[in-house]
Amino acid sequence: MNVAIIGGGACGLFLASLLEQHKIPYCIFNRGKTGRKLLASGNGKCNLANMFFSDSDYHGNPLAHSVLQHHEELLKVFEEMKIYTKTDKEGRIYPISESSFSVYQVFMDSIHGKIVDIEIEKIDKREKGFILNDTYCWFDKVVLCCGSPAGFVKDVPTFSFLEGLGLKRNPFIPSLVGFKTDLKIKDISGVRTKCMVSLKQGDRIIHKESGEVIFKDNGISGICVMNLSSYYAHLKDKKNCSVVLDLLNGNKYDSYKTVLPPKLYSYCKKFSISPDSFCIPIQGVYEMEYAQVCSGGIDIDEIEETLQLKKDKDVYIGGEMIDVDGVCGGYNLMFAFCCALIIAKEIENVVSD
Ligand SMILES: Cc1cc2nc3c(=O)[nH]c(=O)nc-3n(C[C@H](O)[C@H](O)[C@H](O)COP(=O)(O)OP(=O)(O)OC[C@H]3O[C@@H](n4cnc5c(N)ncnc54)[C@H](O)[C@@H]3O)c2cc1C
Repeated sequence: MNVAIIGGGACGLFLASLLEQHKIPYCIFNRGKTGRKLLASGNGKCNLANMFFSDSDYHGNPLAHSVLQHHEELLKVFEEMKIYTKTDKEGRIYPISESSFSVYQVFMDSIHGKIVDIEIEKIDKREKGFILNDTYCWFDKVVLCCGSPAGFVKDVPTFSFLEGLGLKRNPFIPSLVGFKTDLKIKDISGVRTKCMVSLKQGDRIIHKESGEVIFKDNGISGICVMNLSSYYAHLKDKKNCSVVLDLLNGNKYDSYKTVLPPKLYSYCKKFSISPDSFCIPIQGVYEMEYAQVCSGGIDIDEIEETLQLKKDKDVYIGGEMIDVDGVCGGYNLMFAFCCALIIAKEIENVVSD
C-alpha cells in the first residue's frame, strides 16, 4: 500500500500522522509551505475544534453531520498524541499553549514520510496504480485535501487535476469575511463596539448574533460579522441585504453619550441614526484573500460517507475541498481533522483486510 496525500494542510498533515501510527507508507505533495492556514488559525492560537456543535453550524450539511460523529474520537486521538487542550466558555478548543505552531510541531515531529514541494496538476490511473504529474508513481490510494482559495493573496490554487476526474464542483464563494458597504462610514473607521448584529434580506432576518463589530473605511468586520457572511454565502439570491446593528444591545437609555464610543455617538447624531437599528446596506463581501474559508467545492453527492469518491473508491477527499463550511469557532479545522480520522481508518481497514 502506498498513499499519495495531495495537500499538506490541516487535513493532510494530521492524516500523515495517523498513517504513521499504522505504519502505512505515504508521500505528501504540497505546494508551498505546509500547514500555512493551520499556523494562521485563531490568530495563531489555533482554535482547533469546538465542544458544542449542531447541524446549523454547518448550514445543515448532511456530510458534515456524518463526519462530525467522529468528534469525540478526535479529541481522544489528540490526547493520545499529547495535544493537550483547554476549552473556553463558548466551547472553543485551543491547545493549552495557545500556539498553532506547537500543534503543527506535533504533526511534523511524527511525520517521517516524504514531503514533496510541488503543485499536482495531473492525476492518472493506470493498471499499476496512480501516477501524478506523469512523474510520481505508483500509488494505490490518492487523498485529495487541497483546501480552498480562501486566504490566498497570490498563487491561488486552481485544482486543475480535478478536470480529469469529472466531478461536480460548486463555485467557491468567500465566507467568514467582512462585508463591504457604500455607506459613508470613513468617520468611524477603526471604531470597535459590542452590539447585536442581524443579517437581513429585505425585512427578513437571515441570522442574528451578538459580538464585536469593527468599522473599516468601506465595510465592517469582526467575528460576529464573519459569521453573518457565512449565512450570506449560502443565500442563492444576494440582493437587498443589509446588516442591522443594535448598538444598545436591547437596552433603553435617555442618553447614548456614555453608551456608544464617542466617534460612533457623534456619527449617529450627525446622520440621525437610531442606535438600536443602524442599517448598513451590503455591497458584497471582501475579496477571497481576506476570507478564512470558502463555501463551495466538490459536491457532496460525489462522496460516500467513508469520504471515498463514488466514481473511484481509491480516491478519498477531505477538508475544505469538500462543499462543507462551518461558522467561526473551530468548526472548519474540526471538520478537516475528522475527515483525516475517517480516511485513515478506511485505509487502515483496506490494509488489514
Ligand atoms: C487566517 C485564517 C484563520 C483561520 N482560523 C481558523 C480557526 O481558528 N479555526 C478553524 O476551525 N478554522 C480556521 N481557519 C480555516 C481553516 O484553517 C481551514 O478550514 C483548514 O485549514 C482547512 O484544512 P485543509 O487541510 O482542508 O486545507 P489547507 O489547510 O488549506 O491545506 C491545503 C494545502 O494544499 C495545498 N495545495 C493546494 N492545491 C495543491 C495542489 N494542486 N498540489 C499540491 N498542493 C496543493 C495548499 O497549498 C495547502 O498547503 C482559518 C483560515 C484562515 C485563512
